[in-house]
Amino acid sequence: MRILVSGAGMAGLAAGINLGNAGHDVTIVERAQHLRVNGSPIDLRGESLAVARQMGVLDEIKARKVDMTERSCFVDGNGDRVVDLPLAQINDTAEDTEIPREDLAHVLRNALGPSVALEFGDSITELHDDGRGVDVLFASGERVRYDLVVGADGLHSATRRLIFGPERQYLRHLGFYTALANVPQYHPTDAPNPIYNFPGHMAGILTYRDVALAVLTFRSSWIDYDYQDLDAQKRILTEEFGGHGRWRVPELLDAACRDPELYFDSVSQIDMPSWHRGRVVLVGDAAHCASPMSGRGTSLAITGTWLLAKALTENADDLDAAFAQYERAQRPHVTYAQGTVGAGGDLIVPATQEAIDARNRQLAQPGAP
Ligand SMILES: Cc1cc2nc3c(=O)[nH]c(=O)nc-3n(C[C@H](O)[C@H](O)[C@H](O)COP(=O)(O)OP(=O)(O)OC[C@H]3O[C@@H](n4cnc5c(N)ncnc54)[C@H](O)[C@@H]3O)c2cc1C
Repeated sequence: MRILVSGAGMAGLAAGINLGNAGHDVTIVERAQHLRVNGSPIDLRGESLAVARQMGVLDEIKARKVDMTERSCFVDGNGDRVVDLPLAQINDTAEDTEIPREDLAHVLRNALGPSVALEFGDSITELHDDGRGVDVLFASGERVRYDLVVGADGLHSATRRLIFGPERQYLRHLGFYTALANVPQYHPTDAPNPIYNFPGHMAGILTYRDVALAVLTFRSSWIDYDYQDLDAQKRILTEEFGGHGRWRVPELLDAACRDPELYFDSVSQIDMPSWHRGRVVLVGDAAHCASPMSGRGTSLAITGTWLLAKALTENADDLDAAFAQYERAQRPHVTYAQGTVGAGGDLIVPATQEAIDARNRQLAQPGAP
């Protein structure tokens, strides 16, 4: 089949590998001018590791493993270590693998087969599915017909909006916003990967290899802003963190406000009754974002695209049957991943000073996880 994949994040690249290896002719179109590789290292967990092995990328992934989360701890306003991050509450198994986003993108991009083309700086603006194919109009003005369109364009998926309707129908805001930015000239403190809290807020520094990232997360009800407007994102962060002078908060806010590749978004999940309509199907965050707090979005993206390619191969003459098989197989992974975020926010961003103190007391007890 001639397949268009919208978005070259982890889901889009994995879709390219899996659909290309299944014999399809695939074009991946990415809105940005380059792969968007900023952000913190991400985890591959559970089933996705076995899938990565079958995709032929597991050894490369393991070779680039980092241990950033293992070295995290909570600090007080002076930067002194209070307690360590409870790893047992975060990892599924010792096999879980943490890898920088840029490394995973590089590994996946290198594994794209010869029948896969990757194009930057364009995006879908119209989709017309007549039952036998999908006519796609791109922002560049080009029109191309495909047999199948795969939406891998993330939490704010354009494919989902065009085919399934407005995002708000499917988006469940979990009550947090999070930002990640580069800290170019980082001077390490004594505490490794420190996380500092004040009520309803967390500021942290994540380091791996020679990279340092600022992470700023806060509790908030839904904020209406243009999610692509970098200035608006920086304004919101400044309103939230600008009045707090303790620890290294001013320095991290400054780093966020200077970073042209700042990542800022709501911590939200996407909940859809079905991920396909006609000849259009969604994968990754576009279909079922579990939120950064699950730490499982990339695992879901890799597993889901594998299951989609497998279902299309096993139901070569029946798209509806293929999509039904894909959704049946992927849904339990999504339900599990989305269900794991419950206590994550209270652990990382306690709402009050009393809750911060109670968390620290609990984690300091002998035998705490
Ligand atoms: C810059 C960035 C930083 C991130 N940092 C973290 C992090 O630190 N921790 C974490 O847990 N998760 C992070 N995530 C989310 C995480 O990558 C995903 O949850 C997971 O990998 C699933 O990926 P995805 O490919 O479905 O979605 P995404 O990673 O969001 O990728 C979607 C891709 O589609 C592209 N795109 C969007 N709209 C269009 C369009 N209309 N046309 C064409 N292309 C489009 C985007 O530019 C992006 O490359 C980040 C995502 C991004 C984009």
